[in-house]
Amino acid sequence: MSVSTDTGKPSKIIWVEPEDCILCYACVRECPVRAIEVRPNVDHVSILNDRCIACGSCYTICPTRAIRISSDLEQVRLDLESGKTCYAIIDPSISAEFPDITDYRNFVGMIRALGFKGVFDMSFAVDLSAQAHADIFTDFRGKYRISAKCPSVISFIRKYYPELTDNLVPMPIPAIIMAEIIRKKNPGDSMVTLINPCLASRLDIRRADATSPVDTQLTFPELRELFTLKKISENSVEFSEFDPPNGRTGSLFPMSAGLMQAAGQFENLLDSNFLSEEGRQNMLEAVDEFAKTYDIRKHLDLFYCEGCIMGPGMSATGHKFRRMTLVTEYARKRTGITGKDEWTREINSFPLADFTRTYTPDSQILPEPDESEINDILSLIGKTGNDDIDRGCQACGYRSCRDFAVSVAQGLAKAEMCHLYGTKNRQEYIRSLKTSNDQLAKAQKALQESEKLAREEKEMTREYSETLSALLQKIPSGVVIVNENLRIIQSNSTFIEILGEEAKTIDEVIPGLKGADLKTLLPPQMINLFSHALQHNQEVLHKDIQMENRMLNLSVFPIKKGNTLGAILRDLSLPEVQKEEVIKKVTEVIDKNLEMVQKIGFLLGEGASDTEKMLNSIIKYYRSED
Ligand code: SF4
Ligand code: SF4
Repeated sequence: MSVSTDTGKPSKIIWVEPEDCILCYACVRECPVRAIEVRPNVDHVSILNDRCIACGSCYTICPTRAIRISSDLEQVRLDLESGKTCYAIIDPSISAEFPDITDYRNFVGMIRALGFKGVFDMSFAVDLSAQAHADIFTDFRGKYRISAKCPSVISFIRKYYPELTDNLVPMPIPAIIMAEIIRKKNPGDSMVTLINPCLASRLDIRRADATSPVDTQLTFPELRELFTLKKISENSVEFSEFDPPNGRTGSLFPMSAGLMQAAGQFENLLDSNFLSEEGRQNMLEAVDEFAKTYDIRKHLDLFYCEGCIMGPGMSATGHKFRRMTLVTEYARKRTGITGKDEWTREINSFPLADFTRTYTPDSQILPEPDESEINDILSLIGKTGNDDIDRGCQACGYRSCRDFAVSVAQGLAKAEMCHLYGTKNRQEYIRSLKTSNDQLAKAQKALQESEKLAREEKEMTREYSETLSALLQKIPSGVVIVNENLRIIQSNSTFIEILGEEAKTIDEVIPGLKGADLKTLLPPQMINLFSHALQHNQEVLHKDIQMENRMLNLSVFPIKKGNTLGAILRDLSLPEVQKEEVIKKVTEVIDKNLEMVQKIGFLLGEGASDTEKMLNSIIKYYRSED
């Protein structure tokens, strides 16, 4: 018989299917130990395995069935079909699950028909465990104890009241005791399946150190599935009794105080030395008070659920008090199956010392965050100093705003879970959305206007350019406009004509020589004049320059300081230009020498006016040639 220490961690038995989670936080609200985490930027909750006590509360409350529990159904089916020796342990709460089966011997027959070689009633192990509890409770040595019957309670104490771990009665839960008895009575290779409504018993079965004498577990709905799969019904089987050893009042186990009653101990306000409590809230408060004060002065006999008859592995339909009646009737029948003497002999053949279990602490207590951190979170979610932070709407799943802030600080929750924070954020978001919408509308309007302006400017520029180009073509002299790099912006046909054949060829490809480099088209002396005009922002007028065998006259003048120059180029060898030049020169002579002419006129009398007449006639002659 094994004497074990509870050190192994169970493998994963409960989890959340992300795509089915609607973030309603019903599970967060229900979880007694804050084992459900909501991480920032994650759209589903997650179960923290190390913190979970496998109570199954979240599993039963989840409206979308997003919370899943592991199932051994397929493994059990394979084991049964493989021809292995399989034994079943039946929890007495089966009587509350199958009111549709008229006699318990029928469901024993049905289970046997599935292929189980032995079908055992867990009540016998309950009787043994009850005896151990009664002995310890009675032999009081100054230390009050907590019963070791509910695996959720055991797990809760190890994780959240680790200092009370030594107060647990050092016995395994009855299912484990029963499996050890089966293995002792039936040595050799076999598979033991526990059929019960308790999710938390999987904590024991799936211990990572593989020391559990139970191999697989079925919930009652899974057992129903197996019956359906194998087409087994009450009609298809004969009565069958459990394999011995049979229990007696151990069948009362699924109800509060059932364990102690199995040991003949009754809760009596005046005399009893133990307190039996059931249900989540009662259990939590009883343990908390037990931890904080010695004043209770009683041992605790606790169930997490309202008895196993309301465990997460029962069918969802069914009422507690009807179930209690069914269990009581079942227990009455079962108690009479084995005579007291025979039962006593069986009980005595299994010394209690063979079933000890040492529980070890598995603390999951998180460090308390700083008050300043809690206050920061409270103010983030809009709670001011005047608000009652020890209460709250509980929409986030926490009992109070303070509890919620602590969980956020500990990384178990996120601020977005707070309804108030969410609303505030949404309003701010809507406000900011409105503001940015307004800004967007303004920007769009400004953009449209500037696009319109740009279009108009472009159109004007195009018109100017066309006008300028047309005007330039009308000017009889060569005209060129260049940028600061002496690249041609505009030029007229006379300019191209003066430059010669090469320029004309370029003009055919690039009309107006736009973009051409002036330096490649004009001789260096002319380019120097352009550079001078550009650098000094000065005009350079009427410079005669020899180009090939022609005399050209160039005037360069700044149009825009530092970056645009204009130039007029004339070919002095052309007759019309020559005439114009002569007129200009003669006019200059007349102007410059007017005073001298006047003086000469004064000295020569009429002769001076003849000279002027003569010069004017020259001008007239040239003009008449136009
Ligand atoms: S099974 Fe229980 S302890 Fe585990 S997450 Fe669900 S409610 Fe919490
Ligand atoms: S109860 Fe929990 S797991 Fe289920 S949908 Fe709501 S938040 Fe998700």
